[in-house]
Amino acid sequence: MSSEKPKDSAEASSSRSATTVADHNHNHQQPPPPQPATLSRYESQKRRDWNTFGQYLRNQRPPVSLSQCNCNHVLEFLRYLDQFGKTKVHLHGCVFFGQPDPPAPCTCPLRQAWGSLDALIGRLRAAYEENGGSPETNPFGNGAIRVYLREVKECQSKARGIPYKKKKKKKNMIKPNHELKPPKQNMEKVNWKARCWEGKCPKFHFYFNIWNSLLIYIKLYHKLESSLK
Ligand SMILES: [Zn+2]
Repeated sequence: MSSEKPKDSAEASSSRSATTVADHNHNHQQPPPPQPATLSRYESQKRRDWNTFGQYLRNQRPPVSLSQCNCNHVLEFLRYLDQFGKTKVHLHGCVFFGQPDPPAPCTCPLRQAWGSLDALIGRLRAAYEENGGSPETNPFGNGAIRVYLREVKECQSKARGIPYKKKKKKKNMIKPNHELKPPKQNMEKVNWKARCWEGKCPKFHFYFNIWNSLLIYIKLYHKLESSLK
């Protein structure tokens, strides 16, 4: 669980809004309990997130208990949070699709940024186990959540024209070995033969010139020899 912490600190500023706004919107009857000043930013955010999620489950019709909670409830919760998002994600039809800095406003929807959701899931996953849930049944660690987050990441990266660093590095590492090198080598071989047949092969010319000059020297030598006799 400690692995979630560094990632969170980087995302902290953007991820704060995700459940804080949701909290505001839906539970007026239950104000959050006062927190001791010793809690770190991560710990207090985790507690807020956990309370918001608990409230979300209780507000379902019928209410969902923590033991009944599965990855589908988590996915619905993430989609529900999108209405409080502040990140513009352009639709395919928008003229600004793929532009990181659009020059004018557009009507595309605001969503939760991928980084916020990713950090939120990390905190809730930790909170679930701290509150008695077993790691085996942890709905926040479910593969479906990872797939959903990956899709959100790819979609937002394309729509906003922002490449996410980790993926790009991997792609660049693979490309030169698998895609670029073999066809290039083939091209060179084919071109080499073609050039040779056209009489443009540099190797051929080099040896041809040596042979030619040897013949000329031999002829000259014979001429000299015959003139001396
Ligand atoms: Zn747009």
